[in-house]
Formats: sequence, C-alpha cells, structure tokens
Amino acid sequence: MEPIAMASSVLGLFRSGTIESLTAIKSIQKCGFTRAVAERMIEGEKKSIEKIASSCGDESCGCETKAIDDVDLQPTEEMAELAERGLRLREEHGRGGTEVGVARARDISNRSNLSPETISRMSSFFARHRVDLDAPAADPGHDEYPSAGVVAWLLWGGDPANPDEAGAAWADRKVAEIEGESEKVYEWPKSVRKYRLGIEGLSSDFARVKAEQGEPSADEDIREDEKQTPAMEISSTVSDGLAEVQKTLIAAIESGEIASVPGKADDKRRDVQVRKILKTLAGLEGKILDDLVASISKAAAGGGSAGIARVNELLSGAGSGKVGSPAVSEALAKAIQKRAGLIAKAVVQDTVKRFVGSLDLTFSIQGEVARLQSLGDLSPSRAETIARTESANAYHEGQIDAWKESGAVREKHFLKAPGACPFCDAVEKRYGEKAKALAVDAPMVRGGETITANGKTLTPKFDSPGIVHPNCRCDFIPVIEGL
Ligand SMILES: [Zn+2]
Ligand SMILES: [Zn+2]
Repeated sequence: MEPIAMASSVLGLFRSGTIESLTAIKSIQKCGFTRAVAERMIEGEKKSIEKIASSCGDESCGCETKAIDDVDLQPTEEMAELAERGLRLREEHGRGGTEVGVARARDISNRSNLSPETISRMSSFFARHRVDLDAPAADPGHDEYPSAGVVAWLLWGGDPANPDEAGAAWADRKVAEIEGESEKVYEWPKSVRKYRLGIEGLSSDFARVKAEQGEPSADEDIREDEKQTPAMEISSTVSDGLAEVQKTLIAAIESGEIASVPGKADDKRRDVQVRKILKTLAGLEGKILDDLVASISKAAAGGGSAGIARVNELLSGAGSGKVGSPAVSEALAKAIQKRAGLIAKAVVQDTVKRFVGSLDLTFSIQGEVARLQSLGDLSPSRAETIARTESANAYHEGQIDAWKESGAVREKHFLKAPGACPFCDAVEKRYGEKAKALAVDAPMVRGGETITANGKTLTPKFDSPGIVHPNCRCDFIPVIEGL
C-alpha cells in the first residue's frame, strides 16, 4: 500500500477511537514519516474531531485527566508477562489478534499507562470473548493449541487458564474506579442543580442524586415518568442513529458490498462504497437532525426559564417585581439548527466514511464485524458525551439569551462547580464573584487563548458561551442593576 494511503488508514482508526494517539503516531512512523510529521498529522486529526463532534478527545484538555488523576492506569507485572507471551505465540503460530491488538499488547508488555477508553474496551473484550476459551483448540492438550482466541486473550493481558483473574479482573476494577472518580467531579453548583438536572441529567445523574438524598425532596422529586430530560433525548437519538449505521455497515460487510480496496484506485472506489452505504441510509441524517433540533431547542428554552427564575429569586429576595420570560431569539434558533446539523453529519456520514476509510489495515470479514460490534459498545459513551456537552451548551446559551433579551441582566460572574478542575479555578480567579464582572454575552474563555493551571495548559479552539471544557458543569451569577 502507498505510504499516504497507509497513513490515512491509521488516521481513520485513530478517528474512530480504535487506537490511541501514541499507537497512531508509531504506526504512521512505520509508513516512512518522521516522528514530527506523524505527531502533526495526529494533532490535526484531533482538531478536526473536536470540530465535528462535540466530544472532547483532547488529552491536553484536563477534563478527563482531572477525573482519573487518582486512578493508577498502569498494567500489572503479571499482565505484562501475559501480553509478552501472547506476542511470542502470535509470532510463532501466525494467528490471533489484529495489528491494533499487537500494538496494544506492546503497550501492556511495556507497562505503559492505558487510556480509560482502552480499559473500557479491554473490559468488554474479556466479557464478550469468554466463550472463545471453550473452543477445543483453547485446551493446551489440543493439536491446534493455541487457538486464535487464546492468543487474543493473552494479547490483552488476560490469563486463559484463569479467565476471571489477571487482565479481566484488573480491567473491571479500573472501570469501576474510573467511573467512581468521574462521578465525583460531575456536579453542578448547588444553587442551579435542580434546573440543570432537569435539562442535562442522564440516568447516572439521577441515580447519584437519589443515592445522596435517600428520599427525594420536594424540589428534586424524581419520578420515573418524568425522567426524559433533553439530554436523555439527545443521547438516545445519537445512540439509535449510531446503531442504525452500525447495522447497515455490518450487513454491507457481510454481503460483500463493501470490502477493502488495495492499490492506487483506493480513493475513488472507496467513495463509491461510501455513496452506496449513504444511499441505503438516506433519510436517517434528516431524521436525526430534526430530533436533535427539537431536543436542543427544549434544552435552550429550559436554560432560558432557569435564567429568568434565578433572576426572579434574586429580585424577590430584594422585594422587587418579577421579570417575564422572553422567547428564544432568532440568532440562537439558527445556531441550534447549525450545530444539530454537524452532529447528525458526524453520526451518519462521518462514521461511514471513517469506517470505509480504515478498512485497509484489517482483513477478515469476521474481524470487521467484530470491530463494528465493538463500535456499538462504545456508542453509548459517545452518545452520552455528546448529550452532556450539547445540553450544557444549550442551557448556557438559553440562559444568556434570556438574560440579554429580558434586559434585566447586563453583566455576570463565573460560578465554579464543586470539585471543578484547576482550569475552572483559574477562570474563577478572573471572573468569580469577588473578581471582575463579564458582559452578559461575553465568553469567559476565548478561542486560541491559553489557560495555565498546575503546569498543564488548556487552549480552547473556539469562544465558549458557558463551558470551560467538555464535561465542565460551572455556571454564572447574574449581576442585576440596583441590587
Ligand atoms: Zn474544569
Ligand atoms: Zn468548569
């Protein structure tokens, strides 16, 4: 394969989340590029991913690292030995695991820290492939031992002789630790929690609040039938959409409608395949767009009502009259339409293109179907990240829009969320209640500026209305004239 085509396949794998940046950089180097060029290619890819989906994926961001700072992500000595053995057996017998699996086994045998995404994939690999160890050739006494399943199990740092231990037990434990740590961080400021829970709450948020309170209070009464928040709608629209795309891709792979195309004619033939699949999926993108516009608009309207309710709380505390709720402005409605369009495109067109574009590195139909199925395992978390980010953005935009349209609020202060990261601390130092006020519609971080905290830097690519980084749950305090 041409080096360029090879490198773009690697970029495809990186983009789909199948491999991490370090592995991607190493694989691109293998195509004959220098490390510096490979790093630049991955850097560029990261930027374009951020632009397309609102998911974070940026290691320098800090939103993920904060959550898992306290979790040890280094594979154990035992896992390193098992992965090493897997690599040796694969070399010897020529079966088991993909190139991606080999690269990852090297990371495990070097005991490099694994990313939370890799660990979650590891945990679902062990759960899904347990059955492979029942095959005859998985028995050390069999002629064909070791089976491909045994080698793959070892490559992941698992012990085929004790499937509940080693890598499998480690991955499950780490997934639980990471989830525990992440939950601690994701909290809204107390004064706005009831509003934001009703807009941005996902089932894990409701479970957390319920566990915390024991009995639901009058304010935050969580009845099962009321649990359909705009964020939940966004999440199910995205995951249903991804499931539909996945189903179509699996059918196309199995029927031979799409296949790997080696050689120079790659791009054209790939385009033909992509167009065919998108034709099968005609209508899906439009439906996703409509559903997203409805849910995001609901979130923005909810943010508007919340913003006005907060202003009225302050006014009535001071014995002043009430402000009425203005309608969502035309400019905001337009912005919502545009963002929903980008997400719908990311879910349908970009997923199909990414998949077809990455077909050259792996070869078997079974392998591709398995990869697509694992894409399905990831889609709920991708859908949830999109839902969190979009509903939070819409809440902020709605609130700012309503503050501005009502004429009651001209300035605001930054309100840090409990457990917020050092970057949010830095923003609070600038614009918190004791610091300078911001104009009501001014972003508190600007695209291209650099925020430094604890030796790490965050450089947002765009102005942000309300969130410092994905998963940020900070807020604002309205400054009301005369109060
Ligand atoms: Zn933060
Ligand atoms: Zn924050």
